Amino acid sequence: MEGKMKEAPAIGIDLGTTYSCVAVWNRNRIEIIPNDQGNRTTPSCVAFVDAERLIGDGAKNQVAMRPASTIFDAKRLIGRKFSDVKVQADMKLWPFKVIEGPDDTPKIVVTYKGEEKEFLAEEISSMILGKMKEIAEAYLGKVVKNAVITVPAYFNDSQRQATKDAGLIAGLNVIRMINEPTAAAIAYGLDNKSDINGKINVLIFDLGGGTFDVSLSTIEEGGIFEVKAVSGDTHLGGEDFDSRMVNHCVYEFNRKWKKDLSGNQRALGRLRSACEKAKRILSSTTQTSIELDCLHEGIDFSMRFTRAKFEELNMSLFDECIKTLETCLSDAKMEKSWVDEIILVGGSTRIPKVQNMLREFFDWKELSKSVNPDEAVAYGAAVMASKLSDDGDKSFQDVMLLDVTPLSLGVDLKGDEFSVVIPRNTRIPTKQEKEYVTTIDNQASTMIKVYQGERTRASQNHLLGEFRFSGIPLAPKGGIRFRDSFEIDENGILTVTSKIISTGKTEKLTISKANGRLSKEAIEKMVKDADKYKLEDQEFKKKVDAYNALEDCLYNMKIKFKEQDGKKKVPISSLKKIEKAIADTTKWLEENQGAPVVELKAKKVFLEFVCKPLI
Ligand code: AMP
Repeated sequence: MEGKMKEAPAIGIDLGTTYSCVAVWNRNRIEIIPNDQGNRTTPSCVAFVDAERLIGDGAKNQVAMRPASTIFDAKRLIGRKFSDVKVQADMKLWPFKVIEGPDDTPKIVVTYKGEEKEFLAEEISSMILGKMKEIAEAYLGKVVKNAVITVPAYFNDSQRQATKDAGLIAGLNVIRMINEPTAAAIAYGLDNKSDINGKINVLIFDLGGGTFDVSLSTIEEGGIFEVKAVSGDTHLGGEDFDSRMVNHCVYEFNRKWKKDLSGNQRALGRLRSACEKAKRILSSTTQTSIELDCLHEGIDFSMRFTRAKFEELNMSLFDECIKTLETCLSDAKMEKSWVDEIILVGGSTRIPKVQNMLREFFDWKELSKSVNPDEAVAYGAAVMASKLSDDGDKSFQDVMLLDVTPLSLGVDLKGDEFSVVIPRNTRIPTKQEKEYVTTIDNQASTMIKVYQGERTRASQNHLLGEFRFSGIPLAPKGGIRFRDSFEIDENGILTVTSKIISTGKTEKLTISKANGRLSKEAIEKMVKDADKYKLEDQEFKKKVDAYNALEDCLYNMKIKFKEQDGKKKVPISSLKKIEKAIADTTKWLEENQGAPVVELKAKKVFLEFVCKPLI
């Protein structure tokens, strides 16, 4: 982007596990911004291909060919430790390599430009955020600086911090991070604002590509949102429905041809994308077919797929969704009849069976789906972005926002007891304090460990960070009192301070190290790296453009030469030179695929010069 360009309004980004979406308040309404392919959502996918880096559709389109160097699911890694059981389980499903970096940080390993390179999840997410930024800049013709980014309601502090870091690396100023269900509620709350008399209970049913989240919020008069309870399954979504279809196709292929294609990665990749397309079609028609030439060992595959079969294959997964929904209602201590609005979010809520099961569960209540389910979160984020910006639309200014902590926060006590300081589902921002005493005589120092979770044993919860408090005045056991204060800001980010009441000495939790949060220097380095990659991408594009321009020119000259041949309008000596130049350039192009831009351009100028008599 040029330095002279004007600054765009703040954008809203839904950084999804499988797809991302960007929106902005423009021309007096929220606009969902289409990408360079015309698509309104962009795959959260980055591929490293020989000398080129692809982000979005380009990356996803070639995943079947290069599974090991196509990175997706970075959102499942972000802010987590390598040893996290979830990371260990996910790793088994990924075709790309993840290794253990310093401080138990997971690192993604790819081969790029002939070298092995390691990336943090933050860097991969920053590439996707950078792509969303570029999409918005191309559409608005202005530089984008500020953004609101959404995160799942259950994200813990380190996941939120790491997402914020990803935004920084992408060159974005993250003005606020809001929970995805809250964003969806804002997208609808806006439409329904004038109807609200008193308090309404809103259920947000978010079934996306890889994850399922249900949450219950209340919206009060004046547009106050409060998330009451969240529940979900981090491994349930559209991709699981695709997998069941793929497995069925593999079974049918085996039954018909007595051949097992389950070891043929390329065939599986092709089947997966054909199944995903068929699944989308089955949301609007009751049957379709899957046709794939030469799928395995030269055999063509063709199969009719009905909506009924699709539903039968996935029924147990749909049932899971309803069970999770029940858990969420009971967590919020709510009867289903108290739910006033049911909002659909996520592409998979387009599935008719899912909608019917939901309607049935709520005694045939109508579902809210006037905002596209795959765009509602970005829509709400853009509303929030506009509200937070000075030049934002004033009609949004009264939209308030109250989130709650998804999990309890506290410290460990003697005997691994978990002492909760901020209970789950507390409204944020919040500040809460609790007092503790020394547990042994003459205790000179203590280690304060901060956990997040619902288990009574501290160590079974998620360790957010730890810090040492030393220099405690010597005193008998119980003689020194501490006051621990937990403060969560509007982004859901936590600061823990511990203070000796008698002396006033304080220590703060340095989230950066304990949490694997990136240091300022590390972020700066990554920002530089990101710029370097961007430059390399631009250089690569220039090279491709120059190569294509020369190839086009050569092709045109060949045609013109053929047309001229025999007509004798051009002197024979010139024709000879032209013929030689065309032959030389063709050979040169074949042998110099990676030639620098200047050489490609020079060759084109020369070719055009020699071929002038033809033009
Ligand atoms: P999201 O992450 O919310 O964008 O959801 C993406 C998921 O929704 C992918 O698994 C898509 O295959 C799925 N999806 C999108 N459109 C449809 C549709 N019309 N019917 C069924 N699933 C869909």
